Amino acid sequence: MSNITALMDRNKAFAGSGAWQNTPRLPFLPFKALYIITCIDPRVDPADFLGLEFGDAIVARAVGGRVNDAVIRDLSYIGYLVEAKAPEGPYFEAAVIHHTDCGSRLLEDPDLRHGFAKRTGYDEQELAALPATVPAETVRRDVAKILEAPQISTRITVSGHVYDTATGLLQTVTEAAGVGSRTVPDPADA
Ligand SMILES: [Zn+2]
Repeated sequence: MSNITALMDRNKAFAGSGAWQNTPRLPFLPFKALYIITCIDPRVDPADFLGLEFGDAIVARAVGGRVNDAVIRDLSYIGYLVEAKAPEGPYFEAAVIHHTDCGSRLLEDPDLRHGFAKRTGYDEQELAALPATVPAETVRRDVAKILEAPQISTRITVSGHVYDTATGLLQTVTEAAGVGSRTVPDPADA
C-alpha cells in the first residue's frame, strides 16, 4: 500500500464524474490560455487560489516558482507546439507566480546552503540566487528572463504575480507583455 492508495476512491469519483471528457481541442491549448509557473509548495496550488477547473491551464511547478532552464525549455516547447500545430492559436499567457513565506528562503541560511551544496555538488552561488526573498522582485526578474529568452515563442505573453500566503490573495506585479518587448524594467536598473 502506497500513500496514494488512500486517494484511489477520489480517483474513482473523478472518473465517474466524466469531467475528464471535457478536454481542450488540443492539450496545449488550455481553455483559459494560461501557462502558470508557480512554487511546489502545497499551499500554493493555482487549482485552489484561482479555482482552475479541468483543462483550464498548463501548470509548471518548481521550487520558488523560479524560472530555471527546465522551465524555459518546457515553455519554449509548448509555444513551439502551438506555432507548429495550431498557428491560429489561441496563444497562451505565461503567468509567473512567486509567493510570501517561500521555503526557497531557507537557502538564505549559509550553513544550510553550504550543506546542501556539499551533499549534492550543486553550485553554491547558483543556490544563493534561488530564494524568493522579496517575491515582487524575483518574479519581475523571472518575467524578464522569459521575455529575453530567444527560445520562447514571440507569440506568447508573460505576466508576473505574487501570492500572499497570509491572505490568500494574488496581486499582479507586471501586466502581460509580449516576448521581445522591453516593457519590463530590469530590477537592477531600479
Ligand atoms: Zn515556495
